[in-house]
Amino acid sequence: MAAKITMSPGGVLSVPDDPIIPFIEGDGTGVDIWPAAKRVLDAAAAKHQHRIEWKEVLAGEKAYNETGNWLPEETVEVFREYLIGIKGPLTTPVGGGFRSLNVALRQVLDLYVCLRPVRWFQGVPSPVKRPDLVDMVIFRENTEDIYAGLEVQEGTPEAKRLIEVLHEELGWDIRPDSGVGVKPISVTGSKRLIRAAIRYALDRGRKSVTMVHKGNIQKFTEGAFRQWGYDLVREEFADVAVGWDDCGGRPGGKLLVKDNIADITLQQVLTRPGDFDVIATTNLNGDYLSDALAAQVGGIGIAPGANVNYVSGHGIFEATHGTAPKYAGQDKVNPGSLLLSGVLMFEHLGWQQAADDIVRALEATIADKVVTYDFARQMEGATEVKTSELASAIVDRL
Ligand code: NAP
Repeated sequence: MAAKITMSPGGVLSVPDDPIIPFIEGDGTGVDIWPAAKRVLDAAAAKHQHRIEWKEVLAGEKAYNETGNWLPEETVEVFREYLIGIKGPLTTPVGGGFRSLNVALRQVLDLYVCLRPVRWFQGVPSPVKRPDLVDMVIFRENTEDIYAGLEVQEGTPEAKRLIEVLHEELGWDIRPDSGVGVKPISVTGSKRLIRAAIRYALDRGRKSVTMVHKGNIQKFTEGAFRQWGYDLVREEFADVAVGWDDCGGRPGGKLLVKDNIADITLQQVLTRPGDFDVIATTNLNGDYLSDALAAQVGGIGIAPGANVNYVSGHGIFEATHGTAPKYAGQDKVNPGSLLLSGVLMFEHLGWQQAADDIVRALEATIADKVVTYDFARQMEGATEVKTSELASAIVDRL
């Protein structure tokens, strides 16, 4: 009988062979990509004697149409109870009381890591010369920074008052016709994010963690993030990792933890991608960096993502692109982003062989030039297939 995934007191996920996993189909092209991704995930799981009992939960338009609520409390409760879930893209309701449903879910479950692996699949059209050198894993802080939503609109009494208080208390001169935002970066938020990145790098035998920040300008937020990261290495990882300044860039057999300014990083991931491995960064930098890197290896149709709290055990794995409404229901778009998010989920569950099988089958499918429209339009001699046909092609190669 299917069972729940639980978290052991030691902080390790306990995963039955037949776990119940909640899913949100997603709006727009969710109706196309979810069934395709699910078919491949089920086939790969079955090959390794696993069986997932999928449990649908509602969010977005489907939820609104059926319940009048964009993000029903029941959905949040199910994710809370079952720990691990997967979701398609969701429409951001205009004036729905939410900044974004995705951001709301991350905040309610305190999913403090946004995990975005970026690698190239042989044959995928790319705008750069050596996409094969890109193999990075981005850990983006998910709960702080300007995404905390602490801003006041220009001209409102709140903005006026805040500008006055900042002038009276701190002597700051802010133009009266300004909107003002607050950027909190905490020791807690920074250390737990960098800790997760270091552990991930150690578990997978990666060679470095680069902290990407804008600390030369924003000293007490971005600069502090960097410093707290180096402190953490000394406090908790001294036997297995070393900061750049403590080893002059020569880590011996240890994991190297280094740092890089955000603007230079956006150049260097293009000019020398081989220098980057695991990246730990603040929320806004991570947003820019993950989209820029996704483009480098073939675009958003195949970029996976996960939002994870490694302490509570909660994780939601998700397509990183939006709902692409103009293609909804056409059985046309690339299911790769959601499928590879499922692969990330399998890895997180410890189902590494099933995850590897899917990656190999996807590689073989792309190598045979069997692809959806987004790749076909950039590849010579490609066979363009529908979303569902791509799923069949991948299952055939499993
Ligand atoms: P989008 O849905 O990501 O679509 C932008 C373009 O990206 C599409 O027109 C298409 O490019 C390409 N694309 C997207 N998904 C693809 C796929 N599966 N395969 C191949 N190509 C794909 O962005 P948007 O139009 O700005 O946003 C639409 C809605 O999605 C909004 O309501 C937005 O708030 C929401 N959104 C949700 C999420 C999320 O749930 N995680 C993320 C971002 C946006 P071409 O036109 O070149 O074919």
